[in-house]
Amino acid sequence: MNIPEIFAENVFNEKAMKSALSPDVYRSLKKAVNENEPLDFAVAQEVADAMKEWAISKGATHYTHWFQPMTGITAEKHDSFISPVKGGGIIMEFSGKALIKGEPDASSFPNGGIRATFEARGYTAWDPSSYAFIKDNTLCIPTAFCSFSGEALDKKTPLIRSLEAINKKALKVLHLLGKSDVSKVHVTVGAEQEYFLIDKEMAQKREDLVFTGRTLFGAKPPKGQELGDHYFGAIKPRVKSFMESLNRELWKLGILAKTEHNEVAPAQHELAPVFTLVNTATDHNQLTMELMKKVAERHGLVCLLAEKPFKGVNGSGKHNNWSLVTDTGVNLLDPGETPAENLQFLLFLSAIIKAVDDYQDILRASVASAGNDHRLGAHEAPPAIISIFLGDDLLNALKAFINNSTYKTGKTTMRLGAKILPPLPKDATDRNRTSPLAFTGNKFEFRMVGSNDSIADCNVVLNTAVAESLDYFAKVIESSSDVTKSVHDIVEETIKNHERIIFNGNNYSDEWVEEAKARGLKNLKTTPEAVVSYTAEKNAELFEKHKVLSRTELFAIERVMLENYTRIVKIEALTMLDMAKKEIYPAINNYVSKLLELVELKKSNGVSSATDIALISKLNSLNETVYYEAEKLSVLIDKVNAITEDYHKASLLIKDEVLPCMEALRSSADEAETCTDERYWPYPSYAKLLFSVK
Ligand code: ADP
Ligand code: MG
Repeated sequence: MNIPEIFAENVFNEKAMKSALSPDVYRSLKKAVNENEPLDFAVAQEVADAMKEWAISKGATHYTHWFQPMTGITAEKHDSFISPVKGGGIIMEFSGKALIKGEPDASSFPNGGIRATFEARGYTAWDPSSYAFIKDNTLCIPTAFCSFSGEALDKKTPLIRSLEAINKKALKVLHLLGKSDVSKVHVTVGAEQEYFLIDKEMAQKREDLVFTGRTLFGAKPPKGQELGDHYFGAIKPRVKSFMESLNRELWKLGILAKTEHNEVAPAQHELAPVFTLVNTATDHNQLTMELMKKVAERHGLVCLLAEKPFKGVNGSGKHNNWSLVTDTGVNLLDPGETPAENLQFLLFLSAIIKAVDDYQDILRASVASAGNDHRLGAHEAPPAIISIFLGDDLLNALKAFINNSTYKTGKTTMRLGAKILPPLPKDATDRNRTSPLAFTGNKFEFRMVGSNDSIADCNVVLNTAVAESLDYFAKVIESSSDVTKSVHDIVEETIKNHERIIFNGNNYSDEWVEEAKARGLKNLKTTPEAVVSYTAEKNAELFEKHKVLSRTELFAIERVMLENYTRIVKIEALTMLDMAKKEIYPAINNYVSKLLELVELKKSNGVSSATDIALISKLNSLNETVYYEAEKLSVLIDKVNAITEDYHKASLLIKDEVLPCMEALRSSADEAETCTDERYWPYPSYAKLLFSVK
C-alpha cells in the first residue's frame, strides 16, 4: 500500500480544488472560508460543477448533504446526479443550488420541540470550511442543519458559531498584546477514540448487544483486567488485520489515523489521529466511528462504542485534546522555555482556568448521557466533578509570576541506568491520568467525553466559555495603560478567584470527592442532574451574548438530551425484561428441573443429594428474584410511559427507580449464571466475549 498515494484520495481538499477550480473561483472560495463570508452564487455553481466532475471520476453516482443532527450520529439522504433530458436520455447534473442548500423532510429528527411536525421542513446549508468527500460512491457535502426559522437542529451549527466567538475574542486580546500580525485564531483538536472489538457471531447471540450495544447481564469472568496485561500488549492478528483495513479506509478519507494500541480492558483498543482544526476533527471523529463499525463487520467482528459495554472492566471514553493556534502558526498554549515570562501563554492559560471554573456545570452537562453515567465516577474515568490538572511546576510558575519572583521549571534529563540507553529529557511534571481536564504540555486534554459522543458539544462549551474569559480580560487590559501590569493583575485575580478548580492529586479517590465539596465545586453525578444546566440563567446569558445558542435552542438541547436519556434506558429496560422473561427465567428453571431429576435418581440409588438440593434452593430463590424484579421493572416502565410532557420528571424517575431495579434484576441473574451449568445458560459468557478474538 502506497500511503501517500491513497491518502485523501476521496477528499475534495486543497489539492483537488486547486486542480479542479479556476484560479479565480478557488480564490473566491478560500476568501469566503477565511473571512466567514457567504459564497457568491456564480462561484457556487462553478464549485458544484467541478465537484461533480471530480466525484464522477472517482466512481460516485450520488451526492448527499451530510449532517449531524442532535441524535449524535450523522444523517444522509442520497440523490443521484442523473437528470432526464429530451429523447429519454439523462445527463449528470449537480447545481450550485443543490450544493448550497438542501431541504430534507426533517420531521423525524430530534428537535426538542423547536419544530412542530406540521412545519416539517428543515434546511441543510453547505459548510465550505469542511471538505466534501466520497463515501460509498456518494459525494458527501458537510452541512449545517437548521429549522425553517433558522434555529440550529444539529451539532455543527453551534460549533461553527462558537469558533467565530472565540476567534473574535482571542484576536482582540492578541492585538492588545501587540500581536498585530495575527488575523485568525483556530481551535485544534485531536480526539482519541476508545472501543471494544468482539466476535460477531457471539454478539448476535445476545439480545442486549444487538439492541443496545452493551451487555445488560453477565457475570464477571475469572480474569478481567487485574493483571494489566492487555494495556499496550501485543496486538492479536485478527485485531491487527481489522486495524489495517480501518487505517486504509480512514487515510483514503484524509483522516490522520496515527496511533493504535490495546487499552486497559480485555478486547479494548484505542485509535488516535493527529490533531486538526476542530470542525474537521468533529467530522473525522464521526466518520471514524462509522467506519470502525463497518470495517469490524467485514472482519466478522462487532465494534462496541458504548461507554460501558461490560460491567467490571473499564469502559470507553474519548479524549478531546484542545488547543488554540494562530494563522501565524503559534500554539497559544505553548508555555515555551520560561512560562512565567510568556505573557501570552499566561493569559490564555488564565482564560481557561476562569472559564472552566465559571462554567463547570455546563461543561459537565456537555458530556452527559445514559451511557457515560456508568463511567464517570466509577474509579476508572474522571469523576463527574470538573477540575483542572496543571502540575505543580506550572502552578508554581504562575505563583512566581504573581509574586514577581523567578521559578525555574524542573525540566532535566534523566539517565536510564545503562550507558547504552540515551539520556531522556524529563518532563517537568509526571502525567496525571485521573484528571478530567489535564494540561499536557501544550494543550488541554478533556477526558470526560463518552466514547459514543460527538465531540462537538464539549468544544462548543469550551470555545464559548473561553471566549467569555477573553472578553473580560480584554476589557481589563483596555482599561489599563500598562499591558504587562494588567496581565499580572489578571493572573493574580484568576488564581485568587479560581484556584479551587485546580487539583493535581488523584481524582479517583474518595478524599477528592470530599475535598471538592469543601471547595464548593459541583458534583453533578447523573444526566438528569447535569443537563438542566443548559438552561440555567448564567449559561443562557453566556451563549446568547456570544451568539452561539439562543434560549430556544438551549431548551431544545436540554430536552433532546433528557429524551435521549429516557429512551435509551427504556430500551435497555425492555431488552432486559425480554431476556429475563424469555431466556433467563426459563433457562434457570430448565437447569433446576434437571437437578430435580438428578435428586430423584440419586435417591433411588441411595446416594446423597444434599448439595444438589442446596443448589436447587439457591437457584430457585435467585430465579424468584429475577421474576419479581422483572415484574417490578415492567410496572416502572409503564409509570415512565405515563409521563408524557415533563421530560425532566421522566428522567428523574429513570434515575431514582428504573436504574436501581435494573441493577437488582441483573445482580440476581448474574449470580445465577455463576452456578448454572454452562450448557443451560442462554448466551455467551463474559469470558468468551472478552477473550475469544485471537
Ligand atoms: P495520550 O494517549 O498520552 O493522551 P496521544 O499521543 O495518544 O496521548 O494523543 C494525544 C492527542 O493530542 C493526539 O491526537 C495529538 O494529535 C493531539 N494533540 C497534540 N498536539 C495538539 C494540539 N496542539 N492541539 C490539539 N491536539 C493536539
Ligand atoms: Mg489521552
